[in-house]
Amino acid sequence: MAVDSAISSPLGPPACEKDAKSLRFIEEMTRNADSVQERVLSDILTQNSQTEYLRRFKLNGASDRDSFKSKLPVITYEDLQPEIQRIANGDRSAILSAHPISEFLTSSGTSAGERKLMPTIKEELDRRQLLYSLLMPVMNLYVPGLDKGKGLYFLFVKSETRTPGGLLARPVLTSYYKSEHFKTRPYDPYNVYTSPNEAILCPDSFQSMYTQMLCGLQDRHQVLRVGAVFASGLLRAIRFLQLNWRQLSQDIETGTLNQKVTDPSLRECMGKILKPDPELARFVRRECSKESGEGIITRIWPNTKYLDVIVTGAMAQYIPTLDYYSGGLPKACTMYASSECYFGLNLNPMCKPSEVSYTIMPNMAYFEFLPHDPNSAGFTRDSPPKLVDLVDVEIGKEYELVITTYAGLCRYRVGDILRVTGFHNSAPQFHFVRRKNVLLSIDSDKTDEAELQKAVENASRLLREFNTSVVEYTSYADTKTIPGHYVIYWELLVKDAANSPTDDVLKQCCLAMEESMNSVYRQGRVADNSIGPLEIRVVRNGTFEELMDYAISRGASINQYKVPRCVNFTPIMELLDSRVVSTHFSPALPHWTPERRR
Ligand code: AMP
Repeated sequence: MAVDSAISSPLGPPACEKDAKSLRFIEEMTRNADSVQERVLSDILTQNSQTEYLRRFKLNGASDRDSFKSKLPVITYEDLQPEIQRIANGDRSAILSAHPISEFLTSSGTSAGERKLMPTIKEELDRRQLLYSLLMPVMNLYVPGLDKGKGLYFLFVKSETRTPGGLLARPVLTSYYKSEHFKTRPYDPYNVYTSPNEAILCPDSFQSMYTQMLCGLQDRHQVLRVGAVFASGLLRAIRFLQLNWRQLSQDIETGTLNQKVTDPSLRECMGKILKPDPELARFVRRECSKESGEGIITRIWPNTKYLDVIVTGAMAQYIPTLDYYSGGLPKACTMYASSECYFGLNLNPMCKPSEVSYTIMPNMAYFEFLPHDPNSAGFTRDSPPKLVDLVDVEIGKEYELVITTYAGLCRYRVGDILRVTGFHNSAPQFHFVRRKNVLLSIDSDKTDEAELQKAVENASRLLREFNTSVVEYTSYADTKTIPGHYVIYWELLVKDAANSPTDDVLKQCCLAMEESMNSVYRQGRVADNSIGPLEIRVVRNGTFEELMDYAISRGASINQYKVPRCVNFTPIMELLDSRVVSTHFSPALPHWTPERRR
């Protein structure tokens, strides 16, 4: 066991008695990580012993690790599709979990173009709540005085649907914000938000953002931390301020609410909060009309001590922009979680983004780790993978996370690759390396290579009547614009120059690509406004050959060279951009409705 509790320091002096209890809990869980894991597995297997799933694998009521590991297969979402579908269609028997499935959480990971449906049970809310309750006690160790002001957090609910069998299907955060755990949370001086619940719970993203921003402006001197779940969300809020400061300052000046906010309960709530403040209105106008947005966060909210946003994984691309708007304020990545399960927290949240490590909390689920070898062809029935337990992972090695949850996921591959950086007591700490198979991501969307290929194929059908084809393509997530957008570089073979595709046709190609993307992408475009219109940049003939020459000049093997389907290395971007002959943007929104296609 890779444990040396002598080298891991205990967490520092707590800010208050409530914090002391939480910190003791973290210490206890991480000190006894292995025995906690053993108990968690035994609890899950005992609780679910009569489920169809565990009976199928003849566990016969066993709840020990050896039986579990020898009898249950390691699976992916696709393996569980039939069971998930039956639950969605209304089968209430104990298929995966002995407890009734209370709802589905819709993951931002997709399967066949639709969000994955993760079954959950009521008691999971308590487990998530428990993890949330640990975040501020840890933060208070590093940042004193957070009880002397408020947090400006941009939090949103997203649309929800019902499955054919009547179960709710919605994102995990929507489920949490709508729960009594959140709505009727007891007052905690360390966790006071500027946004009222009515603003967070308003389903219209404009009205929600508008009123959250208004409250944040009104309380500007009290704001001690500014945040959103992901970095992309905070940047969208800043962009919103830059686009809407005129109306916002008008409302502040007069103490009345813009007519665009129509939600009655939100209007009523804001009526009690808004007060005319001409001086603040003047200040907002002066600051927001400045040509440069540099430092806008600290100019408007001068007492901000840190930004609370995830900037690890795909979100790292936003660090320079956040630094620009905030004058380099610390960026705290506090937790690592998913629809399937909440995993753990960052015990050193004020560290640099590149040094962020998450400590998996052993009480959340049973965790196993599949050694990740990027060069291996995968595993087969004859050579099953050897999974490693939580306390047995080795520093420096990479693993794919595999979970067994109380809600009934058994040895389920999450798809995240993690690298072990150290231990806190006997619990390992992980650097989030990446999610497998993600080529492009702007917000919570994740587009893989196959989806991009299909989108290019669908769009290029529109070129046939022009005797034109796409000979090569690559892509890039452009996050210099807010919201960011996908850029697809196309090299075309135009056989008849007199009849080459027009700008209009290429715009339609952009839209056709967007229509082919998965539902999370389309929702980002249509409902959340978190992704901008897709852009095609046509490059001149021979560009992709130059790209190959460049790669070979840098040591790539000529026989093994493959066109990268996504690029972000500056010299390559510069080469591509210097060869662009025309650019085209999607002229309309793709189709999206909350209902699933299947
Ligand atoms: P979802 O299923 O939509 O809730 O997305 C969960 C996924 O988001 C995880 O499996 C990770 O890939 C990613 N994620 C969640 N938290 C973090 C984090 N702190 N840093 C990087 N990626 C994260």
